[in-house]
Amino acid sequence: MRKKLVAGNWKMNGGLASNRELLCALAPVAGVDVAVCVPYPYLAQASEALDGIALGVQDVSEFTAGPYTGEVSAAMVAEFGCGYAIVGHSERRALFREDEAQIGRKAEAALAHGVVPIVCIGETLAEREAGEVVPVVERQLAPVLEVLGREGLAKAVLAYEPVWAIGTGRSATVAQVAETHGAIRAWLANHGVAAERVKILYGGSVKADNARELFALDDVDGGLIGGASLVADEFLAICRAAAVVQSCIQ
Ligand code: PEP
Repeated sequence: MRKKLVAGNWKMNGGLASNRELLCALAPVAGVDVAVCVPYPYLAQASEALDGIALGVQDVSEFTAGPYTGEVSAAMVAEFGCGYAIVGHSERRALFREDEAQIGRKAEAALAHGVVPIVCIGETLAEREAGEVVPVVERQLAPVLEVLGREGLAKAVLAYEPVWAIGTGRSATVAQVAETHGAIRAWLANHGVAAERVKILYGGSVKADNARELFALDDVDGGLIGGASLVADEFLAICRAAAVVQSCIQ
């Protein structure tokens, strides 16, 4: 059985003082895995403050070391005890022009250093309106499978994040999430990946009041949480919603 994972994505938010407050207010939630993906400069602070909550980053270099100004390697973040690295977030795809093969290489670099990549996929509103959701996520997954191979992809976490639901307050509906997560798991199985092992998170305007119904879906193994992860009470309530659902399926 897959254990639910709730991962916070702080994005480019925070500061030493506000982080201290937020980190101190966080506590592990029994029965589920919790992670927070912080900006690089705060890795040391978060690594010292967190107990029983995993540490993550929001991106990682595809390169190992050398003349890559501004890049941060998987080996470096692993030294801070980092367990997860988000790769291919839609903001990085859109604003920094990251492509599928590069995202696959970033995931590969993370895995090589024991850091679990959280590979984000998801359609834009135009793509949804054109009825292209499943082809889009399949197009995003295929190059990642090519780079990681079946074994590698089975070790990754996937996050289905419809672009139009991120930071908008408009979550995908339960039916939309169920359909897409089911299609993603079927695609994995059809491509020889151990689909039952792969955690597929949902992300996009998850809040305490919609988390439970989303996490209760068979193919939803938790959430990637943006805005709500910056508010300790809200984030913990989402984690508790995951724990309630997890306890019902045990
Ligand atoms: C995200 O940025 O990954 C995200 C899901 O954001 P939000 O929860 O704010 O929609």
